[in-house]
Amino acid sequence: MNGIYLLLGSNMGHRLEYLKEAEKLLIKEGIQVLEESSIYETEAWGKEDQDWFLNVVLSVITSLDPLELLDKLQSIEDTLGRKRSEKWGPRCIDIDILYFMNEIIESDRLLIPHPGIPDRRFTLIPLTETCPLEMHPIFKQNQMELLAACNDPLRCNLTDYRL
Ligand code: AMP
Repeated sequence: MNGIYLLLGSNMGHRLEYLKEAEKLLIKEGIQVLEESSIYETEAWGKEDQDWFLNVVLSVITSLDPLELLDKLQSIEDTLGRKRSEKWGPRCIDIDILYFMNEIIESDRLLIPHPGIPDRRFTLIPLTETCPLEMHPIFKQNQMELLAACNDPLRCNLTDYRL
């Protein structure tokens, strides 16, 4: 894995505006956005009786270390009004670190690569669009291979929204 990849998601209020605001705040914090995937409309994972999400993957460059990056992402979520209530519940903005180069981190606050990647089409589809041949540093499979092996049945629809 040769980059840093974030997943942004929103399923409350004006979802596209939340994604756009989050990207603006990332840039304001000095996090450079190299590439954006398409935006997908996706069925909620984990707790399905809630509104569909919009999801997008960003490839970014930063001089922050992974924990400093997590701090910035959480402060951006707070700025946008994210309430931390139920696990897998509705959220106006969620920003996850999917990959941070080839780093493997297992700490209380941070798991990298994000452990949900292999089980979630809403993550693997935009990753496959963005970096299809990049290898998962633990499973040694690329994003296309992970997607082909994923049996998540939830829908993930391409939209023509842009950030
Ligand atoms: P969420 O509800 O998805 O926003 O989860 C937030 C929690 O996940 C925070 O307490 C983070 O410390 C933790 N976390 C662990 N690994 C990651 C990761 N790779 N990216 C973002 N949050 C993470």
